[in-house]
Amino acid sequence: MNEFELIDHFFKQPAYRASLGIGDDAAVFKPSPGHEMVVTVDAFFESSHFLPHTDAKAVGHKALAVNLSDLAAMGATPRYVLLALVLPQVDETWLKGFADGLFALASRFAVELIGGDTIRGPLGVCITAMGEVPEKKALLRQGAKVGDEIWVSGTLGDARLALAHRRGEMKLSPEWAIVCQQKIDYPEPRVLLGQNLLDVAHAAIDISDGFLADLHHILKASGVGATIDLARVPQSEALKAYPDWFEKAALSGGDDYELLFTAPLQQHRAIEQLATDLGLRLTAVGQIIPQGVFFLHAPPGFVPSRGFDHFAQSS
Ligand code: ADP
Ligand code: MG
Repeated sequence: MNEFELIDHFFKQPAYRASLGIGDDAAVFKPSPGHEMVVTVDAFFESSHFLPHTDAKAVGHKALAVNLSDLAAMGATPRYVLLALVLPQVDETWLKGFADGLFALASRFAVELIGGDTIRGPLGVCITAMGEVPEKKALLRQGAKVGDEIWVSGTLGDARLALAHRRGEMKLSPEWAIVCQQKIDYPEPRVLLGQNLLDVAHAAIDISDGFLADLHHILKASGVGATIDLARVPQSEALKAYPDWFEKAALSGGDDYELLFTAPLQQHRAIEQLATDLGLRLTAVGQIIPQGVFFLHAPPGFVPSRGFDHFAQSS
């Protein structure tokens, strides 16, 4: 199978929203009236971003999911993706799994693959994702206001537990291993939540580096501080079974791809209603204050590791 047959077989699909999709020198599309384009790219390479022998379907899913998560954090509606694929050889079984994982997620959000590039090299992908947001409405890291509540979607911890298990840093029971590995391999980008936060939140970010590190990005960009009630940080069920991992997995562990956002108190009820409507847990974990970072219900001896030095500087 040569490069063109490979593209035709696994990736070519008719354009529906785009004016021109795969097959020419470049793709063509028109933004919706009154909207701005929101664009992001993430590289996703074996060993650096996923362990060797990761299921191809999971690679396809996650390479797209991390990009859709970035768009979700901006409140954007995902529309188009470009796929640069780097392959050591043409392995049709791997390609089929990869394409299945990618398109299963893409079709759930009506995201169109409109082009890419295919080259030989160490296994990995670069996906560029493009979304739309009504003009001037994009949710930014800056914008958090004193008095805002700080919210987290879903639960935190599973992805870091899965990584610890795979690296042999600890051993999960077989039941929790399945749950956690599903979360690290198939993260769910919070696209609908992001879209629904456009007129609700003041600032947002997706938790890719860890709760503390990503909170720090919001605080720094917004020039504010926070109090965080650690007892309220939503822990995954698996994490509750391994409480020693709370700090490493829920506070400093990355890869959960939940959204962290701030919103004025008046929105509290609306956000609770949104949680019900979306069937997604949304938890208020703290409040924005003028400066400094304070932790309530910190376990004895708690010294937040990652990100804390930056907190100290900003306070
Ligand atoms: P060019 O040499 O002009 O860059 P290519 O031969 O690389 O064109 O690609 C031919 C067409 O196939 C282009 O429309 C390109 O966007 C698309 N394409 C190439 N690789 C991929 C891929 N992995 N996924 C989706 N589309 C791809
Ligand atoms: Mg090319």
